[in-house]
Amino acid sequence: MAAPMKLGELLISKGMLTKEQFSIAMAQQSITGNLLGDTLIKLGFVSSIEMAQALAEQAGIEFIDIRRWAIPEEVLQLVPRTMAENAEFIPLDLKDGVMSIGVMQPTNIHAIDTASHIGGKPPKVYMVDTVAFYEMMERAYFFLQHPIHLRIAAIIKDVKSGSALSGNTVSSMTELLLMDGIRRNATDIHITPEHETMHVFCRIDGVLQHTYCLPKSLQNGIASRLKILASLDIAEQRLPQDGSFSFPLMNNVYEMRLSVIPTIHGENIVMRILSGSSPLISMTSLGFDGTDTGRLKSLFAKPHGLILVAGPTGSGKTTTLYSAIREINILERNVLTVEDPVEYKLSMIKQTQVSAKTGYDFARAGKSFMRQDPDAMLIGEIRDEETARMAIRASITGHLVLSTIHTNDAPTAIPRLLDLDVDRFLLSSALLAIIAQRLVRKICPHCKQEHVYEPGQLEAMGFEGVGAVQTTAPQAKSWHEPGQSAVGFKTSGAVRTPTFKGKGCNVCNQTGYLGRTVIGEILVVNDEIKELIYSGGSVHSIREAAIKHGMKTMRENGIRKVFEGIITFEEVLRVVG
Ligand SMILES: [Zn+2]
Repeated sequence: MAAPMKLGELLISKGMLTKEQFSIAMAQQSITGNLLGDTLIKLGFVSSIEMAQALAEQAGIEFIDIRRWAIPEEVLQLVPRTMAENAEFIPLDLKDGVMSIGVMQPTNIHAIDTASHIGGKPPKVYMVDTVAFYEMMERAYFFLQHPIHLRIAAIIKDVKSGSALSGNTVSSMTELLLMDGIRRNATDIHITPEHETMHVFCRIDGVLQHTYCLPKSLQNGIASRLKILASLDIAEQRLPQDGSFSFPLMNNVYEMRLSVIPTIHGENIVMRILSGSSPLISMTSLGFDGTDTGRLKSLFAKPHGLILVAGPTGSGKTTTLYSAIREINILERNVLTVEDPVEYKLSMIKQTQVSAKTGYDFARAGKSFMRQDPDAMLIGEIRDEETARMAIRASITGHLVLSTIHTNDAPTAIPRLLDLDVDRFLLSSALLAIIAQRLVRKICPHCKQEHVYEPGQLEAMGFEGVGAVQTTAPQAKSWHEPGQSAVGFKTSGAVRTPTFKGKGCNVCNQTGYLGRTVIGEILVVNDEIKELIYSGGSVHSIREAAIKHGMKTMRENGIRKVFEGIITFEEVLRVVG
């Protein structure tokens, strides 16, 4: 980390930190004795990623976010953990004697020396952020020392060979399946009984992936073990049950939300994994284009009104809301939140968490917030009439209210709210905007290559007239963002815009995808849309009006990202159809 004044000055000069935030951080640092960099991250003024990016730019080296990297075991085996820790670098890859390493300080000579010595050639040095560094260091070496897949395979072999099932076997297997889900960065683990076996699936980056096939004899044991962890009734096997438990692993505590339903083959189990630690993202890095980011910034700068983020579970709604809260000057405005559960921890705002036990829910929280002298409030989700009415009331009485709603796109959030018995007039005057979004997997930059679709293939996928992606379509036009230069090139008379796919490599675990980005649509409520809400206009007419006033749909934004080489047509099709 650079010397305090130097780092502070750098961040201020880049507009990433205000002088007021700097002086608060200095005051806090004088009490805690922590480094300025760590203090700024803890206060949420600058995220660890933003800080590393600024330092990397200053030093002229490349920043990479290694959170989702699969570091090859062969590379980790070459560098003992203590050696990596002492020299403060994380080994990432090794090709022809050149080791790629991640460092937290651009001038880490010790790391460069060590990596040159092991690889035989000078290493490729990347800047990584401190939070990811420690997380990945722990994670990579933990799973190197605990080869989960081998232990699962050994238990399967044991059970198959007919050795008696012990309580130990069952609890080891249960624990291994949880650890395996965490290792794969899964958001959900599914344990599905079939006629003769059980299948385990993990949802990773929004997509289910089969991971294991287990002997049927483990079924009741695993179900009981999980029910005990979640304090559910193990004798009840004919009715659905829900519960949750904490699962500590490495330096983290994961909250597991368990759902059990009876099926014809036994109890089907789904566990949602909540990690409780996500990096804060700036609004400009969410994935919206320049115009939409500008639109978002001006929306969240409004003093009062209701802004909703729409989308299914796992579409990154909370991430967007937190990047918005960071735009609000929280030193001058009182921000309160109620969430289920708190996903991001941010200093200077008052975060609360719903609790079924005490009856503290969204509606009740919102009402008490009104007596806390609020300027802005984040209500986790609008899913019932009471919460909907409370959110509208708060937003028409001078507060900025942010919330989420489960609808597929922006315009359908309006009839959804009206279904919740919200007054048309109040809704039309309170609602500022609805942002709908999805998360799509980005093409892995390490194995990205051009992909040419067969003639007619895109039309068959439903992408008619999106652009001349085929050399055989001389009549087609090139597709590019207005005002942006075309990225296409000439081939036999037609402009062909290249599209890409990842072929699969070490870094992306052979999936061809690495990381995710948002595709979204922003419906800004103007006078015409207000009128349509008030007069009971159809979803179709609201959508048309929004498009007329500049809304680009999720699909359009997705296709734009395909031609920017960030995502694939298949991903657009997967998330928005
Ligand atoms: Zn790859």
